[in-house]
Amino acid sequence: MNIALDEAITQHANLIQVLRLHPGLDKNSIAEKNNVSAPTVYKALEDLRKREIIYNDDSVNPNIGQFMGISIGATVCKIVFLNFDFKEFPINCFKKELQKSFNNKSIVEDLNDICNYIYFKTPTSFSELKEYLNVVLEKIKIFIEESKLNLLAIGISSTGIVDEKNQIIYQSHNLPYLEKRNISDFFYIDKKDFLRNNNIPFFLIQNSTASIISEKNNLYTSNPEYSNSKNIASIYLEYGLGAGFIVDGKLFTGENGYAGEIGHTPTPASLLYKFKDFIDKIGFDTNSKCVCNSIGCLDHIMRSVVFNKSKINFKDMNSNEIRNFLESNPEQAQFLGTLLGYITNMLAAILNINLVVFTGKLYKSTDLLYKYIEQTTDESNLKFNRGDCKIYTSDKGTLSPALGAAMYSYYKKYSSSLDWN
Ligand SMILES: [Zn+2]
Repeated sequence: MNIALDEAITQHANLIQVLRLHPGLDKNSIAEKNNVSAPTVYKALEDLRKREIIYNDDSVNPNIGQFMGISIGATVCKIVFLNFDFKEFPINCFKKELQKSFNNKSIVEDLNDICNYIYFKTPTSFSELKEYLNVVLEKIKIFIEESKLNLLAIGISSTGIVDEKNQIIYQSHNLPYLEKRNISDFFYIDKKDFLRNNNIPFFLIQNSTASIISEKNNLYTSNPEYSNSKNIASIYLEYGLGAGFIVDGKLFTGENGYAGEIGHTPTPASLLYKFKDFIDKIGFDTNSKCVCNSIGCLDHIMRSVVFNKSKINFKDMNSNEIRNFLESNPEQAQFLGTLLGYITNMLAAILNINLVVFTGKLYKSTDLLYKYIEQTTDESNLKFNRGDCKIYTSDKGTLSPALGAAMYSYYKKYSSSLDWN
């Protein structure tokens, strides 16, 4: 990577982000969004055009390079690539190559399918996970040497609690082997040397936080009517329920990354009362505890009451299996929808959120749940819950953390602010 080009991107990182999100925006509005004068913007745009970072129509040149996003989930890891304009980079040519390198390990399934990402089952030990990531990186190294890829940065999103400031995984109930792992623990020394020599930094973020970055950026193309929302929550279902937040147009993760642990908040008594007969019929085991050490948190009740009759282990269920399960178990769907309605009301009441995005493994089921979510938000007399708080389903779902991690690596490498104002 050309150092002068990198410096120019860093100097204009916020401006480039405005051009990505608002193609065709007039110069005065661009200046306003960047808090600078119009002449300053003219000069900056000229500089970016001269370096071919943007085209003559001020659109962002996708071919400047790529960002790699890796998400580590409780059951599946996914890898995605974005072009410089944050549109997905097609990886057809990589998939075959990667399949070859994975053949002996037989960890990659369905590499021939049409999806534009690579995925493998999350290994059961850290050394195995590290080995798989480094097998991928060995191939990436060759693609870079062959100029098939010009990698600019890598983002890794992980399950658990991530302290972004210190780039460390604080706590991880789903994958205990991740606890206390630092970002630099993920790569072998030779790979770290290669990345350093090629000016490819890597950054760590939490899955649900990465998902809100991706959801927010995607709103500009998928749902422009919601793109101005400045107070957004994403509700992300993995093994439990997590939330990502954008508050006042800025990413919010709390003091050290614990914000959004909604699954470990207590289940409201009114929900337990309303579904008493159903819960009794299912037989909620009050002797077992959640990993957070409580008996009645939302995650615990969701897993035991909604999914305890699923033939497959809930942890291993994918989005389609969850949908099929809820379709054939309408009482469970009603309970889950109502529970999500309570969460929506809670977020609206605490943070005055005006958009809730349902994502992760929920994204294929929301049409079965909307009725119950809305019934619950309608029951609230706090008018903003129903009036101003819109609900919306992600079209990226379980891919959103990997996409968000790739985007995050841009923000971090070029010191662009995670601010959508
Ligand atoms: Zn819990």
